[in-house]
Amino acid sequence: MTFFNNLLSQVDDIHDEIITLEQDLVKIPSVNTGKMPTGNETQVCEYIHKWLKKYDISSEIIESVPGRGNIIAKLPGKIDQNGLLYMSHTDVVPVENAEKWEYPPFSAILKNGRIYGRGASDCKGLLTAQLIALRILKQNNIQLNKNIVLLSAADEEHGGRYGVKWLADNHPEKITADFAINEGGGRVLRSAGSIIYMIGVGEKGRLQVEMTIRGSSAHASIPWKGENALFTLAEVLKRLSNYLPAKDVSLEFFNYLPNLAIEDKPDPGNIDEIISSIEKNNPPLASMLKALSRITITPTMVNGGIKSNSVPETINLTCDVRTLPHQTIEYLENELNTLLTDLPNVEFSIDYMAIPNSSPIKSPFVDILKNVTSQVVKKNNLQWIPTISTGFTDSRFTRDLGVPTYGYEGAHPDDDPLIINVHGTNESEAVSTIITGAKIMLGTALKLLAD
Ligand SMILES: [Zn+2]
Repeated sequence: MTFFNNLLSQVDDIHDEIITLEQDLVKIPSVNTGKMPTGNETQVCEYIHKWLKKYDISSEIIESVPGRGNIIAKLPGKIDQNGLLYMSHTDVVPVENAEKWEYPPFSAILKNGRIYGRGASDCKGLLTAQLIALRILKQNNIQLNKNIVLLSAADEEHGGRYGVKWLADNHPEKITADFAINEGGGRVLRSAGSIIYMIGVGEKGRLQVEMTIRGSSAHASIPWKGENALFTLAEVLKRLSNYLPAKDVSLEFFNYLPNLAIEDKPDPGNIDEIISSIEKNNPPLASMLKALSRITITPTMVNGGIKSNSVPETINLTCDVRTLPHQTIEYLENELNTLLTDLPNVEFSIDYMAIPNSSPIKSPFVDILKNVTSQVVKKNNLQWIPTISTGFTDSRFTRDLGVPTYGYEGAHPDDDPLIINVHGTNESEAVSTIITGAKIMLGTALKLLAD
């Protein structure tokens, strides 16, 4: 057995311990409601710190505020520079209705090869995989050229202000590395007999639009004396619902459609036809194509009126906007101005929540990820496509620090992404995915830093 395969088999040897580690992490309810005090990520960090200590791996817990810890562990290399950053986050989103869950959301029950619980997949599965990789590297005394750093951060689910954003502002040197692997990719999409791994290379931007719709108040018994802002709101909503964003197929992703058995060359004129032709058989892919070919402007919250018997004077409408990497704030401004033409009583302001971001698709690091995945999953019909995520992760902060960051969790090829239910009811992670992920994390570190 080669040295590489021997290391991989050491992961299989500790199968049961991997399950326990994941279960222990899921059982800590590090729920992030977005309203302080929340998160309690320090408790997860303390567990990890103790676990790492057993294997003689040093780590530090850095709190942005009390209770909201970030953990950074390091295996030192020959030179004291960070070669690779393993990234994940310790917080989880709230459980909407625990009654609907088959098992209590923090019980981490193992059933049919899956661990059920909030955070099992997002993001404690990846965290487990990376911790295991670190442990195997350490136990085998692998000489690394440069440091390998593990970061599991707080507050990813609410924008990272107490997590990676805070670390990037206060301790950038600790999380700056040649390359980083994070959530946001590395799951499998099946199409026409191929197993296709998605590599997360970027993220759509997210902006928030606040519209103020004004009218004038009057007693509701004589409404004609006023001007009801709700009727203007109705017009705004109608226009938003009918909005036809320009189609755009300029992302690199669209060059990979032949890998997905889509033979027609996409252009702005035919992309919607392509989408409808695959919608029935491959809804996740259709949805992805739709999201990556246009801006979305989605009204999400409305607020207004002060009394049940008063004609409302002011209504506030909030919209969530997702932009493609090249669509600027001016582009959105133009779209909104056109959309709201002839509605003088509507004003808007735009806030950037996350700028669109990306890392290069052609990179020696991406070659390593592909190569290692082939060796780990031992299949020869593998393909890869670079994807831009519709949501965002902490990768935007490390990309901003100049760290090429890739979303790549390294799922098992047979794991069905449709049953993971990230952020939903009965969230779960396949044990096989954690094990495959651990091997891919391990192999990537070896090829990058020990070859
Ligand atoms: Zn996540």
